[in-house]
Amino acid sequence: ICWSVRGGWHRPRVSPYGPISLDPAAAVLHYGQEIFEGIKAYRHADGSVHTFRPDQNGRRLQRSARRLALPELPVPYFLQSLRELIAVDGAWVPSGEDQSLYLRPFMFAKEAFLGVRPAHKVAYYLIASPAGAYFKGGVKPVSIWLSEDYSRAGKGGTGAAKTGGNYAASLLPQSEAYENECDQVVFLDQDRNVEELGGMNVVFVYKDGSIVTPQSDSILEGITRDSLLQLARDRGHHVEGRNVPLTEWREGVASGDIVEVFACGTAAVVTPIGTLKGRDFIDEQPSGTLALELREELTNIQYGRAEDKHGWLYRLDA
Ligand code: PMP
Repeated sequence: ICWSVRGGWHRPRVSPYGPISLDPAAAVLHYGQEIFEGIKAYRHADGSVHTFRPDQNGRRLQRSARRLALPELPVPYFLQSLRELIAVDGAWVPSGEDQSLYLRPFMFAKEAFLGVRPAHKVAYYLIASPAGAYFKGGVKPVSIWLSEDYSRAGKGGTGAAKTGGNYAASLLPQSEAYENECDQVVFLDQDRNVEELGGMNVVFVYKDGSIVTPQSDSILEGITRDSLLQLARDRGHHVEGRNVPLTEWREGVASGDIVEVFACGTAAVVTPIGTLKGRDFIDEQPSGTLALELREELTNIQYGRAEDKHGWLYRLDA
């Protein structure tokens, strides 16, 4: 689906999937003026198709747009784009355990010029692809590499926006993680507080049941994290967003104060963190049950197997 702006959003057009053409001087190719979202559509047992808190993705796309000097797509148009694609391609939403249709909305500067300024000609697209289970054969704890040499985003930068540049900056540290036999990389801020993984937020569970997650304006505000923390609050857990120094993580694990650490995001939902590896240490992480319980609770809502008590589901095919 494609929508372009030039003095207003024009009628969206659904067309067969295929290459798009861009002028070689299109601003996005040179200055990275682009933003995106990631969202899943789920088929329920009765055949209906739903997505999860898409208003939040729509609002986050607007915040990203503001930071990247792109026009803000009104949230009702964002929701309309999801529904129009499903109206045409709804048959692609798979059914079955952990299956979904991954939806990728994105917006980029297509105006052709070589000076550095915000573009006036912009396109919004939505593409989709069926997605199978993230973990084959059950959820496995992941190993995390601590990036010391690289940062993902700085103060006042684009860390809170979902823009390609942040991911470009994470590719080399992610390769370093693989070289060190780790699955994912975790980034610190300039004060050595924990930020997030390349594509997931991090959550710490303490012995007294309280839950802490890094809060800063240089990380992406995950919708999965927000939802899991709400479910934890519903169970009576105290939840706090604040700075988490790396020393607090390492000492908390060593002393037994931290009883569980997990990562979360749309793709994997929840994954326990099994090890944290740095240049000169390997910390085994404690294993608990809360992460997997919350995962079960959240996916039950997403797949229509449990009551949607917070009104998070949004029907796409009606
Ligand atoms: N942080 C980053 C850098 C991400 O790319 C993602 C995935 N969108 C997340 C956190 C988790 O966000 P969400 O739960 O909204 O998918």
